[in-house]
Amino acid sequence: MCDTFVALGSATIDGKVIFGKNSDRPYLEKQTIVYFPRKQYTDETVLKCTHISIPQVEETHAVLLSKPSWMWGAEMGANEKNVVIGNEAIFDTKEPLGPPSLIGMDLVRLALERSSTTIQAVHIICELLETYNQGGACAEDDPTLMYHNSFLIADSNEAWVLETAGKWWIAQQIKDGFRNISNSLSIRSEYTLAKEGIVDYVLDKDYCDNRGEFNFAKCFTKGFYQTPSRYSREGWGNYLLQLNSGNIGPKIMMEILRDHYGGICMHGAFRTTASQVSYLSRKNTIHWMTGSPHPCVSFFKPFVVPRQNQPIEIDIFSQRDNLNLLEKQAIIQELHSFEQELIQSIQNIIQTDNWLMKDIQTLTQEALKREYSLISA
Ligand SMILES: [Zn+2]
Repeated sequence: MCDTFVALGSATIDGKVIFGKNSDRPYLEKQTIVYFPRKQYTDETVLKCTHISIPQVEETHAVLLSKPSWMWGAEMGANEKNVVIGNEAIFDTKEPLGPPSLIGMDLVRLALERSSTTIQAVHIICELLETYNQGGACAEDDPTLMYHNSFLIADSNEAWVLETAGKWWIAQQIKDGFRNISNSLSIRSEYTLAKEGIVDYVLDKDYCDNRGEFNFAKCFTKGFYQTPSRYSREGWGNYLLQLNSGNIGPKIMMEILRDHYGGICMHGAFRTTASQVSYLSRKNTIHWMTGSPHPCVSFFKPFVVPRQNQPIEIDIFSQRDNLNLLEKQAIIQELHSFEQELIQSIQNIIQTDNWLMKDIQTLTQEALKREYSLISA
């Protein structure tokens, strides 16, 4: 499952870009917050992704990821160039999946490691998709869990929705307003870029009656496609963005990710395993990550993509393992009021315009320490 949101320009409280994602995954799958530094490679380096190996590039960017621990790829994350990406599973398309190859989470990490802007990320994912296709198990213990992917990519200037069906893809640029994706194809006729030959292909396959009626979601979705109603997660998520349009900042994005009415904070065999909210601005980007299940009982901690040579792994999932936080309301309340304080402190810090990365890193350490002491008490 999963829900990914973006609000830009007039939809946000200060004209910046706000990104949010809930990663909904199998109940027991551990997700950690990891940092990999920038790295140079020699010509012949081979990169082992989740199921296949591909040639490595000369240099990869530093990345901060929310990553299921068993796989190479990531559910969401950010790089040192202020690009953020989240993916979504797409089950319902007419196209077959390829044999084990790249999975959506590999494409998220590959694009973050290799791109400096959103448009570059779009091209990198599409080139990899056309070269290797997508396919292979997306869960450690369930080889039948396989899917196509959609992506929401954002930086401090704009966002892109990129949707795929097998090797076919389409992309839509978003310069202002808001947009969300939730496990179904959503780009219709209003696209910016598409794989060459896509209209001829859908006519040839009888996915669409005539050239003038090309509609990606309608053509590639199996069965009857209709605009999602407000009672679907996608429709409800869109309604929440609309309701808050003009006021969206990190706090409201966190509230949207905690919504239970529309099932955005997911509980059950598939549950929201980790969440991310990013405040994207050319000078003042801050990422808020939980690294733990259920945003309603989780604590968003502030991060910047660090500049250091050593990788980092933060495992909050295991620390919380023995504690049913749904029954520990006092701890949750304390963490949530600390989260509000942190949002305020960071707003004050970044308004000064001459803050240093270490000011935020001090708050990250304080937040992690506070969470650890409360959940291990
Ligand atoms: Zn919840």
